[in-house]
Amino acid sequence: MILDGNFTRKQIYEELKIRVDAQLAKGKRPPCLAAILVGEDPASQVYVNNKVRDCEEVGYTSRHIRLTADITEKELLDLLGELNADEAVDGIIVQLPLPAHIEESKVIETIQPGKDVDGFHPINIGRMSKGLSAVLPATPAGIMELLRRYQIPTVGKHCVVIGRSNIVGTPVSILMGRNTEPGNCTVTLCHSHTRDLKAYCLQADILIVAAGKQEFISADMVKPGAVVIDVGMHRVPDASRKTGFRLVGDVQLEDVGQKASAYTPVPGGVGPMTRAMLLMNTWQVYWHKILSEVIS
Ligand code: NAD
Repeated sequence: MILDGNFTRKQIYEELKIRVDAQLAKGKRPPCLAAILVGEDPASQVYVNNKVRDCEEVGYTSRHIRLTADITEKELLDLLGELNADEAVDGIIVQLPLPAHIEESKVIETIQPGKDVDGFHPINIGRMSKGLSAVLPATPAGIMELLRRYQIPTVGKHCVVIGRSNIVGTPVSILMGRNTEPGNCTVTLCHSHTRDLKAYCLQADILIVAAGKQEFISADMVKPGAVVIDVGMHRVPDASRKTGFRLVGDVQLEDVGQKASAYTPVPGGVGPMTRAMLLMNTWQVYWHKILSEVIS
């Protein structure tokens, strides 16, 4: 079975659009996302443009703030302070990576946790780790949502996560081990110092690969019937395509797909789910604000 991220993303957008329309019908404003791009990195420009377009698709408003690469750290932090204080802005994202003279962690920690729709703020990560309500990082949240919607059984399963980055591997390992549905897995977190990776992979009922190594998981590393989530994204030159490249993941999907009971394709698996979760997170912080206004 293919865990279709494109299909699921569309489903989520339709659901969000219904919620937004209901708010508009009540005379309320829609959610608003502020997306900040520093510099002119072509990939970052594409990501931010997509995020702004996605907002339009579901009926959110957005502020696309483009800053030149020579902006000082203080100027950026001051701008974040203004957006934090702006009642009309629900969510804030700063596209990473940032120019070297700006400290990423300072930027992440300046965004108010309640507006941190990337889910990168230490308060959100801490709350997630404790099983409290939190804004979850988009890629791990997207993986969980895909497992939930495809009703993949996870309770008591052995989940092996490859990669321990702060944005994918570590948070998804925490989420898969939590007492939630999906969740309740026994989790093994593998990384670049893991010895005999293949032996761990072969024990995995659910294998989540986020190592950033092109097609390095082969079919002989996968247990028959396993569920395989491929987070990796790599551009491979391909003259037959209009773009001049095609996307591949961390997994040799053609062969692994034959052996797995379910898997995410690349492209069209985890990538679209990451986009969808940014919009879900923006809805979450917007709705939380509305509820607290009603209660107070
Ligand atoms: P990263 O480079 O920050 O982390 C990679 C991790 O893999 C590290 O923890 C490292 O220890 C581990 N690793 C590297 N080689 C290994 C090996 N041989 N054996 C075991 N572990 C190994 O990467 P990241 O930011 O987590 O991203 C991982 C991949 O996912 C990249 O290809 C990235 O482009 C992709 N990605 C995709 C999405 C999406 O939306 N689809 C989102 C984020 C990242």
